[in-house]
Amino acid sequence: MVAIARNEERWSCGTGEFSIDAERVFLRFDISGDTLPRYLLSRRSALEAVHLLAIDRDGTVRENTIPAAALSSSMAGGYFKASLPDVTSETRQVVVAIDLPSHRMTLERAYVAPEDEDAADSIGDMRFLLVLAGLAGMLVMPLIFNAAFYRALREPFVLWHSALTLSLLMTILVSSGLSVMLFDPPAMTLSWMTTAIFGMTVASGAMFTHSFVESGLMHPLLRRLLPYCAAWAIFLSAFHAAFPFVARPIQSSAYTAAFAPVLIVFMVSVIDALRRGSRAARYQAVGYTPMVLVGLIRLVTGVVPWLHSTDATLLFYIGCVCEVVFTTLGVAERFVTIKRERDGARNEAELLERLSETDPLTGLLNRRAIERQFEQLRTDGFAALAVIDIDHFKTINDVNGHSVGDEVLKAVADALQAGPSVRAYRLGGEEFVLLLRGDDADTQAELRRQAIPAIVARTVSGLGRPVTASMGVTGLFGSEDFVTLYERADKLLYEAKSAGRNRTRSAIKATSAPKPLPSDRAMIA
Ligand code: GH3
Ligand code: MG
Ligand code: MG
Repeated sequence: MVAIARNEERWSCGTGEFSIDAERVFLRFDISGDTLPRYLLSRRSALEAVHLLAIDRDGTVRENTIPAAALSSSMAGGYFKASLPDVTSETRQVVVAIDLPSHRMTLERAYVAPEDEDAADSIGDMRFLLVLAGLAGMLVMPLIFNAAFYRALREPFVLWHSALTLSLLMTILVSSGLSVMLFDPPAMTLSWMTTAIFGMTVASGAMFTHSFVESGLMHPLLRRLLPYCAAWAIFLSAFHAAFPFVARPIQSSAYTAAFAPVLIVFMVSVIDALRRGSRAARYQAVGYTPMVLVGLIRLVTGVVPWLHSTDATLLFYIGCVCEVVFTTLGVAERFVTIKRERDGARNEAELLERLSETDPLTGLLNRRAIERQFEQLRTDGFAALAVIDIDHFKTINDVNGHSVGDEVLKAVADALQAGPSVRAYRLGGEEFVLLLRGDDADTQAELRRQAIPAIVARTVSGLGRPVTASMGVTGLFGSEDFVTLYERADKLLYEAKSAGRNRTRSAIKATSAPKPLPSDRAMIA
């Protein structure tokens, strides 16, 4: 290394062509000026080792070798730092030999400095880190909301949105000085983590788009391609993180280029969904634009040999935030839509249920309603059940016509309704059921039955003779179910009909009244 370093023939000066074809690449920094460098800093990427030589004016060489695993991270996001051998006022050159470099930027971006980035311009860097920490904190909120929403909705896009947000959060941590400040991980650890997390980000972004764009608003082929893109991204990044030296000189460029199809499928999918009127795609389009720009910049500068490759770091952070903000807004809007749809469906179901429990002719509730409400009404203190049947209704129909019969039924329904302690139901034909509350439930029932002739006569003219009804009444004591009570009341009704109609048979006191307790008797006495 010393021989090569001293051979002036082998050096070329300039910033133009950096090639990583060789297994060991040399960089030379000529030292002049007062501030003596102590560190080498450069863009981290997989490499095998870094050799550092300080060459003095008199030819003395101090040498220092750092294996990749021992490289520490720089506060400058995405950079490693290596301590130089002692550089004195006699030192003329610092020569750096990098074994198995895997990325051109490790050569292009290398510089020597007296301090690590954080101390060099501490206030400015701290400010930047604080802003980044704030952004990272912002990304935690959608995660919390998503967890809450997922419990309620079980929509897969919520999970993918969480995965995407988490990936971007980790991206900000590993690609900035934040992780260095918090954990100080080795540079190579951060290097493979950055690669792996990038794959996760692309994959969860593709899956989020796949599950988030409304059904029918993306070409089925594109929707089917997106999961393959996600798998491809995971494979690429896992492979590149685990085996960075397989096709070393070209691997980084090939790796970057291999994401081009994913970027294309993604852009075409969003454009296609936009043209089909997807609202989700609108949020995606705005949110992803800076990130797609970053992707394009990295792709173009990474693949075109005469361009200096760049990470577009600032735009990248802006992209992370923009992506999360707009996808979160999109998700929030989807929640509103889903809630609106569910409310609509619930209202419709309630309406249908009400309709299914209502008799269209009289507007009274029907048997379905009484069966559903029965136990609750009993708990609420309803104490009597009456079955009422119009006398000789067939004759009314026969003499006056069916439509007059209908009018009579409506008038009877009116006669049976009286305040909150009486509930009237039409069970079918000209048969009604009353549920009554209060001490005088049977009296109330009798009043309703006796109101029928007058109200019918007042409402339906030309009937000729009064319309009467017969009734059977029973108490609701004990825990007998509706059917049993109904059958007993119906039997009583039959007795009333047999006894000559227009009368009531009641079993409230005779069979069902509870025996008063001794204390009650004392009070009555
Ligand atoms: P009873 O005094 O023994 O009860 O004799 P009734 O004629 O009232 O009894 P029946 O059950 O024989 O007749 C009931 C009639 O009610 C038969 C049917 O045509 C009529 N009816 C059933 N539903 C309706 C309806 O919705 N509208 C009209 N207009 N008539 C109906
Ligand atoms: Mg009848
Ligand atoms: Mg009948």
